[in-house]
Amino acid sequence: MDYKPGLFTTADPIAQQTGSMIDPFGRAVTYLRVSVTDRCDFRCTYCMSENMTFLPKKDLLTLEELDRLCSAFVAKGVRKLRLTGGEPLVRKNIMFLIRSLSRHLQSGDLEELTLTTNGSQLGRYATELADAGVKRINVSLDTLDKEKFHTITRWGDLDRVLDGIDAALAAGIKIKLNAVALKGFNEDEIPQLLRFAHARDMDLTLIETMPMGEIDEDRTDQYLPLSSVRQTLSEQFTLTDLDYKTGGPARYVKVEETGGKLGFITPMTHNFCESCNRVRLTCTGTLYMCLGQDDAADLRTALRASDDNAYLFASIDEAITRKPKGHDFIIDRTTKRPAVARHMSVTGG
Ligand code: SAM
Ligand code: SF4
Repeated sequence: MDYKPGLFTTADPIAQQTGSMIDPFGRAVTYLRVSVTDRCDFRCTYCMSENMTFLPKKDLLTLEELDRLCSAFVAKGVRKLRLTGGEPLVRKNIMFLIRSLSRHLQSGDLEELTLTTNGSQLGRYATELADAGVKRINVSLDTLDKEKFHTITRWGDLDRVLDGIDAALAAGIKIKLNAVALKGFNEDEIPQLLRFAHARDMDLTLIETMPMGEIDEDRTDQYLPLSSVRQTLSEQFTLTDLDYKTGGPARYVKVEETGGKLGFITPMTHNFCESCNRVRLTCTGTLYMCLGQDDAADLRTALRASDDNAYLFASIDEAITRKPKGHDFIIDRTTKRPAVARHMSVTGG
């Protein structure tokens, strides 16, 4: 049978035999993050070098192939699907994939279809995303200063991103802002970012920079431990620890003065791997079982070998047996090479 997007659902007889994905440490894999393109319209200094070599277009999975792969994971128990990149909204015809995947929301097989975006294209896509059942998205925003925004993203325009955020909120999409905490860059601005987010009913999550891929700068100069950010914030705000979990690595506090939530993602100072429920797929069909390790499985070969999904399911099962216990990130003056050679834009964070 030729594969047609939209036709494969978990009602398929093969899908019903697939079973769920439990890794060797007993963790159920229920969350798939998919980098739909390695390309981006920004060049954030902590993420990419200015002159990036991107994959040749011919190496990319087609949108139909991405749909089939994502659907296979849904059949195997994935309940949450996040499209990321590079910038997911610069992939040509991306709404075709999003609309197609939304059938799994309608069937109830998928709980959430979401994305992580730099916000530059949200003005154009917000309404369509909402219509396709996207209820929440993450938008990356490291500063509210126009000049600094241009410095950190190299190519970005803050006003366009802010308009995109407004468009998404107006379309009824809930937003979580993500900001990478950078020493000497935005550490003084975090209270302002917090007030900006909470005034619009958006949560804010702070992220420590991770040593992924060669960039043009020294990461030791950028790295800011969130333990010290929290310490500084607690001089101005009352931070109450929350039990709230999104299934992700963030630990949340309530900011009593604003009433909003603030998350901390601390891959460097706290290892959150014991509750990891996710795997990451690249736009070439490579599956990474851990963000911080190089081991990967090639699913493109299985995908293209047959229209029948049996081989693909077997390849996914084999990959899950290799999910490692965790990662070891180090940033210091003696460790000059990144912990993993690939850039964050390959797997999308
Ligand atoms: N382009 C989209 C965006 O910026 O939201 C999606 C992809 S981007 C790689 C996903 C997230 O990873 C962003 O929030 C970005 O700030 C973060 N990121 C990129 N490189 C990072 C690094 N080396 N350490 C920590 N976070 C990083
Ligand atoms: Fe692009 Fe996102 Fe990386 Fe910035 S963080 S360069 S927006 S992929």
